[in-house]
Amino acid sequence: MRQLIDFLIPHFCAGCGTPGAALCTLCAEQFHAYRRVHRSALRGLPTVSALAEYSDPVRRVLLQFKEYGRRDLRGHLAEALADGFRRLNAPPGSVLVPVPSHPAAVRMRGGAHMSALVSGMKRVLGAAVRTAEPLRLSWAAADSVGLTAAQRSANLEGRLFVRARRLPSGPVVLVDDLVTTGATAAACCRALVAAGVEVVAVLTIAEVGKGLR
Ligand SMILES: [Zn+2]
Repeated sequence: MRQLIDFLIPHFCAGCGTPGAALCTLCAEQFHAYRRVHRSALRGLPTVSALAEYSDPVRRVLLQFKEYGRRDLRGHLAEALADGFRRLNAPPGSVLVPVPSHPAAVRMRGGAHMSALVSGMKRVLGAAVRTAEPLRLSWAAADSVGLTAAQRSANLEGRLFVRARRLPSGPVVLVDDLVTTGATAAACCRALVAAGVEVVAVLTIAEVGKGLR
């Protein structure tokens, strides 16, 4: 059994391919290059903070986790996000809310990756936080890759839902993996605020730099 597990779990860094842990020390450090995200789509919304810029090895790690099933990265990413959360100084009783994935992506990946990361954060942070999943994206929404901020907003219009029975009862920190134009984070914040929820911050693993947008 042990041999089978060893065979199934890759023994190399997802960021640079170095044999050993899922994430080597050097690549892990890249997830602590905290930065504030500025986008016109985010004007008037709570502060958006990113752990890193979306370039290699951070990009490779995220792709390996999301698209290539490297679940052994979950703990590392959750810990990096938990560290980012601590830096926010969010009010006590804050609730972590994941940005929802498209249902097609959830089906293909065998689960919602941001939900998995938010549960991982809860495991690291313990009683300091709670989690809730009030947001849902309908099948009608298109994949947002390659869309401009305006197109992304239009794409989410009427396709992003707040489930009233899952509304969090405390201040929310919205958690995402990637901020590109900021339109998705903005739509999620607005939907929550419209439902009477206070959003105090947005935390994302990476932000796409200007050259890649
Ligand atoms: Zn590495």
